[in-house]
Amino acid sequence: MIQQATRTAEAVRPLLPVTGADLRVPLVTGGSAPYANLDIAASAPALASVTARVAELLPYYASVNRGAGFGSAVSTAALDAARRTIARFVGARDDDSVQLVRHTTDALNLLASAVPGDVVVLDLEHHANLLPWARVAGRRRTVAASATLAATVAAPDDDLARALPALLAVTGASNVTGELLPLAGLAEVAHRHGARIAVDGAQLVPHRRVDIGALGIDYLAFSGHKVYAPYGAGVLVGRPDWLAAAPPYLAGGGAVRAVTLDEVTWADLPARHEGGTPNVVGAVAIAAACEALGALDPGEQAAHESALGERLRDGLAELPGARVLRIWDDATDTLGLATFTLASRPASLVAQYLSAEHGVAVRAGRFCAHPLLARLNSGATAVRASVGVGTDSDDVDRLLAALDALVRSGPRWTYDADHLPAPDPRSLPGWLARE
Ligand code: PLP
Repeated sequence: MIQQATRTAEAVRPLLPVTGADLRVPLVTGGSAPYANLDIAASAPALASVTARVAELLPYYASVNRGAGFGSAVSTAALDAARRTIARFVGARDDDSVQLVRHTTDALNLLASAVPGDVVVLDLEHHANLLPWARVAGRRRTVAASATLAATVAAPDDDLARALPALLAVTGASNVTGELLPLAGLAEVAHRHGARIAVDGAQLVPHRRVDIGALGIDYLAFSGHKVYAPYGAGVLVGRPDWLAAAPPYLAGGGAVRAVTLDEVTWADLPARHEGGTPNVVGAVAIAAACEALGALDPGEQAAHESALGERLRDGLAELPGARVLRIWDDATDTLGLATFTLASRPASLVAQYLSAEHGVAVRAGRFCAHPLLARLNSGATAVRASVGVGTDSDDVDRLLAALDALVRSGPRWTYDADHLPAPDPRSLPGWLARE
């Protein structure tokens, strides 16, 4: 029995406090339960230290880069300091540009607008690292990932040799399976062909220390809302030359040095690609998250998430009818994440049931990686559970126990054709319900 097996395993405590750790959520069956948030790979809760830093900044919130008031001086200094903190956290080279953007999707679209040649991608990517290259550069070449991770590193070799290669764009870790890609090896393959490498770090950066200088990564993109900061801010860090030569990503105030009605002189990096008022709160929040994650022992963070990830996968292995999706048999390092299917239970029903009857949050879908789901699950949806620094073993055990109950006895509530609980007596928090 899942419940017994996991109960005997050693308890794993959260590594860092997160905002909302004490949240209780309503259940359709009445009452409430502590919120077990196992949807960290989609958006991670803000660290308590991030929330505190944002609260410190907000009283000074004022026009940035332009105003003469003291609040403006604080906001501007906070933005500049955030850029430096982020650069240090990812091991940026001295001349790398730190572009503050909206999220990973934005970062990769910005880079796509600056790439001077072909882009080679693997077929396992999130849409954010597939679509921008086809749309803007128009010269995307897609390489099928091989059956083994070792062969996958060599797979882009031919395409990089054949194309007029400018860039190999790969994810640091699959958002579907959590498997990590060997970035130093891929960087070596790209560089051998005179190409550069861009890493979609949306999943990797929140969970593993990434040193772009040491790994030879030319560009790194990641999102604030996955790195324990609120939504709305992200980062592209990397080599300045292509970015400096590219047309401004967002034309407007802030991106210019001088304007007449007939002419414009664009600003240098990073302002060149940051038209409009920057998201200072978002940048400061990311920097605070970088500080907190940077202060962790990297081994301890990996061990915490591996322990929870193994507990999750071991529990799923014991669950009748459960199948965990994997790309490779030889991948040795996996994030604390498992995407799975349950025989005869649609993924969306499983996810709705976990939330409605148990207060456990997971995600069902194709995870913006349709080509990969087509390969791993015939295009059908699956369920993803994922952990982070604020997760404890109780969260994982509750998920496994709830799945066990579902497999053995079915749901206790009724669900409509879209698998939504029907009826759904849960009400939204008071401040939102008062319309
Ligand atoms: N890349 C990967 C691997 C992701 O998991 C995600 C989000 O799920 C993204 C890119 C896109 O991130 P965002 O929606 O913050 O742009």
